[in-house]
Amino acid sequence: MTAGGASSRVLPSNSGRPAPAVPFNRTYVSADEIDYLAEAVRLGSTSGDGPFTRRAAALLREMTGARQVLLTTSCTHALEMSALLLDLRPGDEVIMPSFTFVSTANAYALRGAVPVFVDCRPDTLNLDETMLEAAITDRTRAVVVVHYAGVGCEMDPILAVTERHGLALVEDNAHGLGGSYRGRPLGSFGRMAAQSFHETKNVQCGEGGALLVNDAELAVRAEIVREKGTDRGRFFRGQVDRYRWVDIGSSYLPSDVLAAQLTSQLESFGKIQAMRQEVWRRYHTELAGWAAANGVRRPTVPDDREHPAHLYHLLLPDLDSRQAFIAHLAGRGVQAAFHYQPLHTAPAGVRYGRVAPGGCPVTEDVADRLVRLPLFADLDDAGVTRVVEAVLGHEVRR
Ligand SMILES: *Cc1c(COP(=O)(O)O)cnc(C)c1O
Repeated sequence: MTAGGASSRVLPSNSGRPAPAVPFNRTYVSADEIDYLAEAVRLGSTSGDGPFTRRAAALLREMTGARQVLLTTSCTHALEMSALLLDLRPGDEVIMPSFTFVSTANAYALRGAVPVFVDCRPDTLNLDETMLEAAITDRTRAVVVVHYAGVGCEMDPILAVTERHGLALVEDNAHGLGGSYRGRPLGSFGRMAAQSFHETKNVQCGEGGALLVNDAELAVRAEIVREKGTDRGRFFRGQVDRYRWVDIGSSYLPSDVLAAQLTSQLESFGKIQAMRQEVWRRYHTELAGWAAANGVRRPTVPDDREHPAHLYHLLLPDLDSRQAFIAHLAGRGVQAAFHYQPLHTAPAGVRYGRVAPGGCPVTEDVADRLVRLPLFADLDDAGVTRVVEAVLGHEVRR
């Protein structure tokens, strides 16, 4: 179950009830993970940009085709870096979906920019591209898209709008590593893209992220912003004879110990993904008849998109039936979760943002109806069967 706010995280149970037979999420331990962690500690290069950071970044470059990959302490921090790199100023506007995690908006609000919330499409729950142009004003500087569940947004029409209006595009690709739109990797469309390696994501190192930079003009400054505003990177490459404070920035480098864990996870990406895809596929086939009979909607994946099985969600008819469904599953030992609470109605969303013309009626509707089923690499056949049987044993009251 999630916290009452916009959090997508699962809180530890403090209710005194036994742990669920099938938890919502469980971290996967990849083949060399413990060895790599031990090696990083033994090597003693535990600060940022050590050998494992270079290995993880190289793997991410291969997977996404990004020009430059900078590991960060979180996706939140990668988004904050994008706000710094776009030189956002108080009063600038950044268009984004309301149906997303808080960090998407918070990163820009921190610079004084105004998040402008656009509704999502009822099928993919991604930003509704038909409402994008009406949200643009002469203060608009950027558009941030979120590939919900790793299913790509309508990138061709979105790029047509950002190019026509000279706006920067940023991808919050926290769900989308390994996904593609018309054969092109998610994370390669924006001037920048942000990845998350939080415990709850497909590959993880507890807390971690990456900024993908696809724009050559931003590359030098991206490295500086990440290194406390210094040209320390150039110094280590022998390009300058000392390093100095040259710009604003912060400390966005993760420890090489975390990068060691991430390197192992990325090396196991194929295996992790095969296991997750199998869980996703079984839910999708085995729940089809039940969903149709109970007025429940399964996820929509357009034919021209590959998704990385980040999450499996169902849309129940309304809030009451959603809550009853989650309670039913809990009674069968299955932990299900909901998210996101719309940002445009959240206290900080009201204070710092505004709603685009047309409002966000779809976001408000789906936020009340969405349920996510357990999905993690180690969820074995018996576990999936248990979830499926728990779902099939529930009749939705409308
Ligand atoms: C998880 C997530 C984030 C935040 O990631 P962190 O690495 O925890 O900062 C941001 N946006 C979306 C869409 C997410 O799912």
